Amino acid sequence: RAKEEGRNTYRFYTAGMNARSRELLLLEGGLRQALDQDEFIVYYQPQFDLLSGALVGSEALLRWQHPQLGMISPLDFIPMAEETGLIVAIGNWVLKSACLQNQLWQERAGRPLQVAVNMSARQFRHADLLQDVVAALQESGLSPDLLELEITESILMADVEQAIEVMRQLTVQGIHFAIDDFGTGYSSLNYLRRFPISNLKIDRSFVQDVTTDPNAAAIAQSIVMLAHNLNLQVVAEGVETAEQADFLRSVGCNLVQGFFFGRPASAVEFERLYFK
Ligand code: C2E
Ligand code: MG
Ligand code: MG
Ligand code: MG
Repeated sequence: RAKEEGRNTYRFYTAGMNARSRELLLLEGGLRQALDQDEFIVYYQPQFDLLSGALVGSEALLRWQHPQLGMISPLDFIPMAEETGLIVAIGNWVLKSACLQNQLWQERAGRPLQVAVNMSARQFRHADLLQDVVAALQESGLSPDLLELEITESILMADVEQAIEVMRQLTVQGIHFAIDDFGTGYSSLNYLRRFPISNLKIDRSFVQDVTTDPNAAAIAQSIVMLAHNLNLQVVAEGVETAEQADFLRSVGCNLVQGFFFGRPASAVEFERLYFK
């Protein structure tokens, strides 16, 4: 059975069990130190306007450069950071770093660039959120309307009224919101119209199948239409081929992000690629 689930699963069951639990322990202990010892790094993935091809900004994506284990994906440590509550401090660090970096790039580019930062559930519900976001903007000098916070449907739906109130306080400051991984959660369309959002991000799972699965194509197109009818912009995430980009352009998708256009890169690499 494990073998049927794929190679990684197979390896996990046969040889990996002890190594994996040791690894988890190592991760948990390390998480606390990582913040103090500067082991976290923010990568940036470019977002482009699909019609003009212009760089419009980036999404900040957290990485952990672990001294023993090497580069660790956020998928492997964010759940634990969330569980321990450390995600609030880590997320705040990402927010500050991303605002500072974006402001630098903007001055360099001589035109507005936006930056998107992912919010965790706990960070979004934390009482200091507004104050932390305002501080990050003030310290960096970044204009609030160039900061976008990405929230998933499940975070929004956990407590709709509270989510609306938090978002309202932040949008009053000029900050924008995007719903991340749209289409994979369970948000009701009736609530969707109540959230003060400006962007929907079509989940990668639809995008990767738009050229091979008519249903995925229909869903992607419907999300674009829904978004436009609600006066929202649409970002497609995980665009890996020219064919996918062509399809998305044909249905009027506004922005794209994906390996075809640019992988997440360190700030140094991002600069080399886009500001030369
Ligand atoms: P996400 O916000 O949906 O970010 C998009 C993910 O898709 C990123 O994975 C990105 O590297 C990957 N991706 C982008 N283009 C492509 C593509 O063309 N093909 C494929 N296969 N993948 C692509 P990453 O960086 O591993 O991040 C995974 C998730 O971790 C993010 O999903 C987000 O939910 C979370 N995350 C990342 N940074 C942060 C953070 O600072 N705070 C919080 N709370 N969560 C974060
Ligand atoms: Mg995101
Ligand atoms: Mg996403
Ligand atoms: Mg996603």
